[in-house]
Amino acid sequence: MFEKRLRRLEKDDLIRHLLTRGSPQGPVVTIGGKQYINFSSNDYLGLAGRPELLKAAAEAGKRFGFGSGASRLLAGGSSIHERLEKMTAAFKETEEALIFNSGYAGNTGAIPSLAAGSSVIFSDELNHASIIDGCRLSGARVLVFRHRNAGHLEELMKRERAGQKVVVTDSVFSMDGDIAPLRDIHSICLRHDAVLYIDDAHGTGVLGNGKGALAHFGLAPEPWIVQMGTFSKALGSYGAFAAGGRDVISWIANTARSFMFSTTLPAPVVAASMKALGLLEDGRGLVRKLWKNRKRLAGGLKDIGYDEGPSETPIMTVAPGNLKETVALSEYLWGKGIYAPAIRPPTVREPRLRITVTAAHTEILIGRLIDALKKY
Ligand SMILES: *Cc1c(COP(=O)(O)O)cnc(C)c1O
Repeated sequence: MFEKRLRRLEKDDLIRHLLTRGSPQGPVVTIGGKQYINFSSNDYLGLAGRPELLKAAAEAGKRFGFGSGASRLLAGGSSIHERLEKMTAAFKETEEALIFNSGYAGNTGAIPSLAAGSSVIFSDELNHASIIDGCRLSGARVLVFRHRNAGHLEELMKRERAGQKVVVTDSVFSMDGDIAPLRDIHSICLRHDAVLYIDDAHGTGVLGNGKGALAHFGLAPEPWIVQMGTFSKALGSYGAFAAGGRDVISWIANTARSFMFSTTLPAPVVAASMKALGLLEDGRGLVRKLWKNRKRLAGGLKDIGYDEGPSETPIMTVAPGNLKETVALSEYLWGKGIYAPAIRPPTVREPRLRITVTAAHTEILIGRLIDALKKY
């Protein structure tokens, strides 16, 4: 039965293969014994492979061991879990922060917490899959507003009378690299007394000089705003956090099932996240380098006639046409030693190459991609 289903996926060009790295994450990676220039990772600041993170992890391991053995409620957390939460709250300028095991766990835990009871969730139509799953798990009524369309959001809100309103949006949309109109959404939330939940997975370490999407828009992190962010993308570590006012974070800690009923992150992972936050805070040069590279890639693509599309961030897309054409282009680049993955339905509606540039790419590596595309 499954064989037949798999054959169908294969035939429709929708089958996915797991690729295995034989090297650290970085601008050049080894896959199947060969080197590829890598435009597929979310390691925006090039921190994932940095020895400082490993060293911090090893030191924490000496003190706390590796496994954490239990959830936070049962003393699985160490004193550095608490320290990372304090650091994260200071970084996001919120009263409190709470660690989640991953961004996926954050969204599937915090969203149902916030939308408990008779809440209504308002969700952007292109929100990340983990947000969609969090909305479903909440059991709340979910109203989907058109992508980045604050007018539509407000229209939907005006019609809703009962219940707490919760607005949920990615800050940076992970497949197109465009940014949510947070200033407008923020004022709408104020007018309608709604809670705002921002998934800043691709904004943290990238936007607002690294501080994230709220800083990018000059918005204050008020206590009715919850920011989810990850340590796994620009910060090069693993895990996630929810940051916000004292009460809302305590509420999440008391009700989010993915937080309560899951073993907490190993201390070495927590230590690596702390180190990464430290590196980000004392080296904004990394963020500047990231944006310089983004400009370089965007300029290069434009010069050879590729439309930048909706991207405003280091997540860029090249959409040559239908699925077959997209897969063919990705395979051509692969043949040239360049990894730029084809993203296909159901992850996206329209197939495209998703190209992420990082602070660790050199001018030469970016040039190789542009060159290869030019000759295609
Ligand atoms: C990657 C991602 C997540 C999930 O984070 P993980 O730490 O990888 O589980 C959540 N939201 C968005 C927008 C993401 O891109």
